[in-house]
Amino acid sequence: MSSRQSVRHPSHNHPLRGHKCEAKDEIICSGCDLDLVGAAFKCTKSSDCDYFLHKSCFELPRETNHKSHQPHTLTLIYSPKSTYTCNACGEYGSSFTYNCSICQYDVHVGCVSMPETVKREDHPHPLTLLYGSPYNQPGLVSKCDVCEDIVPDNLWSYYCKECDYATHLHSCKKEEEAKKEDQKGEGSKNSMNSELAAMLEAQREVERMQIEMHLAMQSALISKKANKAALNCI
Ligand SMILES: [Zn+2]
Ligand SMILES: [Zn+2]
Ligand SMILES: [Zn+2]
Ligand SMILES: [Zn+2]
Ligand SMILES: [Zn+2]
Ligand SMILES: [Zn+2]
Repeated sequence: MSSRQSVRHPSHNHPLRGHKCEAKDEIICSGCDLDLVGAAFKCTKSSDCDYFLHKSCFELPRETNHKSHQPHTLTLIYSPKSTYTCNACGEYGSSFTYNCSICQYDVHVGCVSMPETVKREDHPHPLTLLYGSPYNQPGLVSKCDVCEDIVPDNLWSYYCKECDYATHLHSCKKEEEAKKEDQKGEGSKNSMNSELAAMLEAQREVERMQIEMHLAMQSALISKKANKAALNCI
């Protein structure tokens, strides 16, 4: 499909068009609420409408039979009437959800597509996706071996049976913070930095305004000149 061609998606009122999202644009997918980098669709009225979809979210099937919810088919709902709690990760959601209306069962579209096995750098064996507690015994609580927080019985987790090693479904807060620290890197050597950054940002804002004013004045001058030139022609 050419990127000029527009397409319709039932989740949105305006036509969409193919788009490639760059990491630096920091775009969030309007379907799954996750970061969007790479192949995507974008609202053609993008000046006032920040609607973006992963190509994969655009192509999600309207219905799915998922192992996590054997008895019923899950239906993709584009705009749930209210926020929901995801039965896989326990977090809130307000965009696309795979829903079972009979059981009030909701799963983020991002969670539905989590792989059945994953490999972690810090664990020698592949981990298996579980749709509930690894333990059959009531009262036995599963603890995440990465962040040491509890993994609630009703939520999904990754598990190695051999080592009785469990993790939360998604990367834990601890890991996220470590990632953020890494990204900040050099920049965070002293506590003055954030204040300094705010000050620089303010300064840049003033400069931007000055430039805009300057440009506005210049174009006013030019149009005056143009008017004069036009007058001279008469
Ligand atoms: Zn998405
Ligand atoms: Zn739109
Ligand atoms: Zn979820
Ligand atoms: Zn159900
Ligand atoms: Zn964890
Ligand atoms: Zn293991």
